[in-house]
Amino acid sequence: MQCRVLSSGSRGNCTLVRAGDMRLLVDAGLTLRALTPRLEEAGVPYRGLDHILVTHGHLDHARSAGALAKRHDAVVHCPEAMMKNRSVARAPRLSAASSGRTWELEGPYGDTVAVHAQALPHDCHPTLGYRLQHEERRLVVLTDLGKVDEQVARSLSDAHVLVLEFNHCTEMLAEGPYTDSLKRRVGGDHGHLNNDQASAMLERLAGPNLHTLVLAHLSEKNNTPERAMEAAFGTLQRLGRTDVEVMIARQDESLPPIEV
Ligand SMILES: [Zn+2]
Ligand SMILES: [Zn+2]
Repeated sequence: MQCRVLSSGSRGNCTLVRAGDMRLLVDAGLTLRALTPRLEEAGVPYRGLDHILVTHGHLDHARSAGALAKRHDAVVHCPEAMMKNRSVARAPRLSAASSGRTWELEGPYGDTVAVHAQALPHDCHPTLGYRLQHEERRLVVLTDLGKVDEQVARSLSDAHVLVLEFNHCTEMLAEGPYTDSLKRRVGGDHGHLNNDQASAMLERLAGPNLHTLVLAHLSEKNNTPERAMEAAFGTLQRLGRTDVEVMIARQDESLPPIEV
């Protein structure tokens, strides 16, 4: 299995996954216009996507899921509560994703990926984190949660590649340009992970198989790649896991593909 973060941040999130001949996306939060060249660059042809997993209804995750599914004749998997949202309504097929469930995605030539969904504390209900498994290799995509959560850590453990939210630095958020109510929202238990909370989740999620960590959903106003990297490195060092490769997902360019 291979994964490639095509975009990450408050202006849009999208990760491409290949498993044999199957291609799927976790989130489609960019406009079709922005996403199309990135998909082409990643070698995904017209009608080349089989499935789109949507984590939640916020537009930076769901924006073009339905339109893209229509173009590719793909299945959209999303929480039942958001099935009537405009962002997914155009999908030719919708399938309900729910917390605690594991189900199988099928590719065009018999490849399968087992997906496990887990509910996350976030201010869009429900929000899901996903673990994808193909031939004993596991990818976890965990963004948009407001606090350290033991159940989430247990449910999404043992990844080979972990895409984890490092949204903001608490000092930068406090001193930054956001209004007080937005600061409370982002920093609250149903907002986003700060670098310390993300490190605490990393501590719980870094199992023996983890080889690559992708820092994701970084705030452009309330964090810097250096601060997020420092927090992640410090944690990995404490854990004696300096062998884990760390990458930072970008908003405006795709990361190279990662072999899971
Ligand atoms: Zn969100
Ligand atoms: Zn988001």
